[in-house]
Amino acid sequence: MRAAILRGLNEKLEVRDDVSAEGPGAGEVRVRIAASGVCHSDISVQDGRVPHLMPVVLGHEGAGEVVAVGDGVSELAVGDHVIISWVPPCGKCFWCMRGEPNLCMTHMMELMNSPRFKAAEEPLFGMAGTGTFAEELVIPPGAAIKIPSDIPFDIASLIGCGVTTGVGAALNTARVRPGSSVVVFGCGGVGISVIQGARIAGAAEIVAVDLRDDKIEMAKKFGATHGAKPDDLAAVSAEVTDGIGFDYAFEVVGYPTTIRQAWDATRRGGTTIVVGMGGVDAMVQFSAFELFFNEKKILGCLYGSANVRTDFHRFIRLWRQGKLDLEGMITRRIDLSDINEAFEACSQGEVIRSVVQFN
Ligand SMILES: [Zn+2]
Ligand SMILES: [Zn+2]
Repeated sequence: MRAAILRGLNEKLEVRDDVSAEGPGAGEVRVRIAASGVCHSDISVQDGRVPHLMPVVLGHEGAGEVVAVGDGVSELAVGDHVIISWVPPCGKCFWCMRGEPNLCMTHMMELMNSPRFKAAEEPLFGMAGTGTFAEELVIPPGAAIKIPSDIPFDIASLIGCGVTTGVGAALNTARVRPGSSVVVFGCGGVGISVIQGARIAGAAEIVAVDLRDDKIEMAKKFGATHGAKPDDLAAVSAEVTDGIGFDYAFEVVGYPTTIRQAWDATRRGGTTIVVGMGGVDAMVQFSAFELFFNEKKILGCLYGSANVRTDFHRFIRLWRQGKLDLEGMITRRIDLSDINEAFEACSQGEVIRSVVQFN
């Protein structure tokens, strides 16, 4: 089968047609991927911002159909349509039992650290334990969330990472209150999803911050009420919040400077939410006094603080009612052979989402 493989840092992806995945063994399912979004985290593995074992089949935002189930799997059957969850909750660990299944590392670590594919005889890892830039993959059933069969796969694939991360950041992590003021730093696929989540939550003002004018204009189509380049934000904050600062500031870039900008844009007593995936050695500075005196909250956000078993369906229902625009987020539909151009477009910030379509 075909798959896109990253062999080393800053290398182009290699698309091959002799890749295989063994199984399913007991307690596993095989999924044929129909669509997979190109998420910025795939590029963060390519450029080394986030370390990963290599060679690796990239892709972690996918949807498809179950084509085989192993022994002992009762919750899924051949023909089921599923969204891939890159955090498959085990249901038994400390975090799962506390209702924080997005923090479950039981299966994810094991899947990340064991080869999931082979190219000829060479073992290949899978991105975050998945690898949705392959035609088929083998995963535990907890990583395949069943969805209604009438949902288009390209729409479903986005829910697998970017939409859940962004909408979940607004609805689950921050719990944005109706009538509040929101600023979002970074208007890629996740930032647009945060904006949509804030709109769904009833935020009064949503300010989209980006370096690119075209992305700010795009953000307004999804619910941003104002836009600003970073240098203009102080003026927009003066207009929107009387200079007091925002109730919620979402950082969706993953750099120390933007995290600090989001913190500074947050009002005293407000909340900064770090959604962007930053580098393991990138440090952010706060003074001890300001942490105390300004009583701001700073919240990390992994996978939108989501419970994938319930939230994937919640987002599908919001989409069905026209409250979550997923069609509008797909800028390009591409073949796997065009994956390197799609990565380039994503890292240049030219697109919201490219979706790889498999036949
Ligand atoms: Zn668990
Ligand atoms: Zn992602």
